[in-house]
Amino acid sequence: MYDSGNVFAKIIRGEIPSKKVVENEYALSFYDVNPMCEKHVLVVPRGEYENILDFARCASAAEQAGFWECFVKTAEAVGIEGEFNVFANAGLNAPLFNQSVFHFHLHLIAGEKTSACIDIMKEMLCKK
Ligand code: AMP
Repeated sequence: MYDSGNVFAKIIRGEIPSKKVVENEYALSFYDVNPMCEKHVLVVPRGEYENILDFARCASAAEQAGFWECFVKTAEAVGIEGEFNVFANAGLNAPLFNQSVFHFHLHLIAGEKTSACIDIMKEMLCKK
């Protein structure tokens, strides 16, 4: 069940600040506070969807179109083209990375890895 007290819901409502990249009626994007690479942006729908599956199942055609428009404009705005990663985590016990904010978001990542990213990768290699 969606909890509207999550940090991205607060950013959407303007209750806490973020470093915004792009906004439209249905979605917005902003820089991740703990970047894994030089360019690490989160693309978030304004609607209340806990994860990517909820969004894909339940968001209207207009919300989905608005989200993808925001995604494309974000990539253009931060200069991402050709070499990048996109991922979405879901749940507290996902196989690779756990979700920590329960409002659907895509991570859009490019450029040099940060030391935080290298530490995470090392930690993953040590786990079963
Ligand atoms: P996930 O673990 O996939 O749910 O990703 C949540 C992401 O949100 C993490 O990469 C965090 O660094 C990032 N994050 C948490 N709080 C904020 C915030 N206030 N502004 C921007 N990014 C945030």
